[in-house]
Amino acid sequence: MSVAENLARIQKQIVISALKAGRNPASVRLIAVTKNVSAARAMESVAAGVADLGENRVQELCNKYPAVAGARWHMIGHLQSNKVKYIIGKVTLVHSLDRWSLALEINRRSQEAGLVTPVLVQVNVAGESTKFGLPVDEVTDFVTEAAGLPGVSIQGLMTIAPLVENPEEVRPVFRRLKQMAEGLKEIPGVKMEQLSMGMTNDFQVAVEEGSTMVRIGTAIFGSRH
Ligand SMILES: *Cc1c(COP(=O)(O)O)cnc(C)c1O
Repeated sequence: MSVAENLARIQKQIVISALKAGRNPASVRLIAVTKNVSAARAMESVAAGVADLGENRVQELCNKYPAVAGARWHMIGHLQSNKVKYIIGKVTLVHSLDRWSLALEINRRSQEAGLVTPVLVQVNVAGESTKFGLPVDEVTDFVTEAAGLPGVSIQGLMTIAPLVENPEEVRPVFRRLKQMAEGLKEIPGVKMEQLSMGMTNDFQVAVEEGSTMVRIGTAIFGSRH
C-alpha cells in the first residue's frame, strides 16, 4: 500500500470513529509520525494532504525540518532540556512537557526568542514505570504553576497508552485523560482544547474518547526497523 492509500484508509477510520461518538470528524487532526522515515517519504505524506508531522527526536526533526517544506512540526517524544534551544520557533506544538525543569527551559528559550511556545502536558495515565509523563496526582499543581510562565502556552494534555493487543483495554486511559482535561479548564491562563492521544494500535478508540490529535506512524509508513 502506498502512503497515500494508507492515509486515505486512516482518514476514513477517523471519520467513522468520530461519527460513532457524535463528534465532528474535522475536530481530529492527523499527525504523521515520521521517525525513522526518510525526508522523501515524509514529503510523500505532505503531498497526499498531511499538514502535520511529528518526530520524537530533536536531531531527526532538525534534519528533516528544512527538507520538508510546508509542514507543521510537532515534538512528540521525550525532550532533553539541553536540546530545547534547537526546536524553539520550529515546532508548532511540544506534546511532551513532563517536568518543571523542562517548562522553565522552554519558557526561557521562548522568551529569549520573543515567542510563546504552545505545549501539551504529558500524563502517565496508566502509571507505567517505563513511560515518561507526569503522574496523574501531580498534574493539577503542575499545570497551575506552568500557566504562570509567559513563554509557555498550555493547550491541553497528551498521553501514550500501554501497548495492548485489544485497544478496548486502553479505553479507560483515554477516558481518564479527557476527564482530567475537563477538570483543568478552570485554571486561569490554561487552554484545554487539545487531547493528543491515539497511535496506530489504538487511535480509533482514542477518537471515540475525544482525541483531537492522533499520532500515527506505522499505519502510514509501514513498520520501522
Ligand atoms: C512512534 C510514536 C508514535 C507513533 O506510533 P505508531 O505506533 O507507529 O503509530 C506516536 N507517539 C509517539 C510519542 C511516538 O514516539
